[in-house]
Amino acid sequence: MNKYAAYDNYLKEQPDAKGYFGPYGGSYLPEKLVPAFQEIEQAYKRISQSAQFINELRRIRREFQGRPTPVYHCERLSNLLGTTQIYLKREDLNHTGAHKLNHCMGEGLLAKFMGKKKLIAETGAGQHGVALATAAAYFGLECDIYMGEVDIAKQAPNVARMKILGARVIPVTHGLKTLKEAVDAAFEAYMKEYQDAIYCIGSAVGPHPFPLIVRDFQVIVGEEAREQFVQMTGHLPDAVCACVGGGSNSIGMFVPFLADPVEIIGVEPLGRGSGVGDHAASMTFGKKGVLHGFESYLLQDEQGDPLPVYSVASGLDYPATGPEHAYLKDMGRTQYDTVDDKEAMEAFFALSRYEGIIPALESSHAVAYAMRCAREGKFGSILVNLSGRGDKDMDYVIEHYGYGEDLKL
Ligand SMILES: *Cc1c(COP(=O)(O)O)cnc(C)c1O
Repeated sequence: MNKYAAYDNYLKEQPDAKGYFGPYGGSYLPEKLVPAFQEIEQAYKRISQSAQFINELRRIRREFQGRPTPVYHCERLSNLLGTTQIYLKREDLNHTGAHKLNHCMGEGLLAKFMGKKKLIAETGAGQHGVALATAAAYFGLECDIYMGEVDIAKQAPNVARMKILGARVIPVTHGLKTLKEAVDAAFEAYMKEYQDAIYCIGSAVGPHPFPLIVRDFQVIVGEEAREQFVQMTGHLPDAVCACVGGGSNSIGMFVPFLADPVEIIGVEPLGRGSGVGDHAASMTFGKKGVLHGFESYLLQDEQGDPLPVYSVASGLDYPATGPEHAYLKDMGRTQYDTVDDKEAMEAFFALSRYEGIIPALESSHAVAYAMRCAREGKFGSILVNLSGRGDKDMDYVIEHYGYGEDLKL
């Protein structure tokens, strides 16, 4: 069977017309928001197929984002650990230093084609806000980012970046003043402004069509990586892995390998351990539930309310995962494993020291998993999606972990 044909069919068949991946996904929205999301869905279906849109997105990726990003063989680190060869897909070299710009540029271009004037979103740690503000600046669109007051105080450098890029950062002052309230505020604003604005989600989550849109804009990562890896080595990797927060960098990496004889592993944050509130491993410990307009694996209490989550990597601390992951896990095509703060920090320092690459704390979880496999000699080769660079984490790391002086491999 032609593998690419199988992959193309998968993209067309998942999700179904109502936005379901098997029993997961869908669109659980207040009545008032339904027309706005339907408009996005219909526009996306039409516009994303047009040659004009496809060509323009290709040009932007090449000229503005610096794609394709390379695949890199970590020879030193691999040899230190055993025989498993570790490779990285270098999304840290994508413009702005992470994979998030892949879907933000796609969402911005869609807004432009739809004739919208403004991008609206929420942000937690500020990474999505910065990527979206970058897209807005590029396309000449206004950008309103809703952010909890508590997060604004914690994330000063990202708040400054958004403002320099020309975005409005709107403080959310009710409730716990963090991400959940910011999501509510962004939805509220979008409901009022949807004639002129478009809502842009930050991961492969949310109501239909967002898990579809974000997946489609992120599969470039796996498509490039697959071709580059085969060109470098003459064969496919035995395994691919990526860290899983909402699930966007991972789904982008995984989907192009679905029809191949390749093991696929999502790496979740185990934080301080498996107690309630100590981790954010929703695929590992969660159950089916609804959050933010979609159905998927969710860390929830008896009432179905989301549980508190924690990880050293703020980009991973979300109590649910995108619906496509839930579907692929139940099918047995993807697996999920966990890495705690300590193991992630070791990988952070190891990749820095032995390869000259300072990874984001999120990406360090995936690197740690590959290092574990290498110590166990589990695969001949493993390809890791290095979702972002660690510059943003520098101050936090130095304050809490020093300079990695104790690192011993
Ligand atoms: C936001 C972020 C993540 C987590 O988001 P996903 O949607 O799960 O990919 C991972 N890595 C980096 C560098 C991030 O900024």
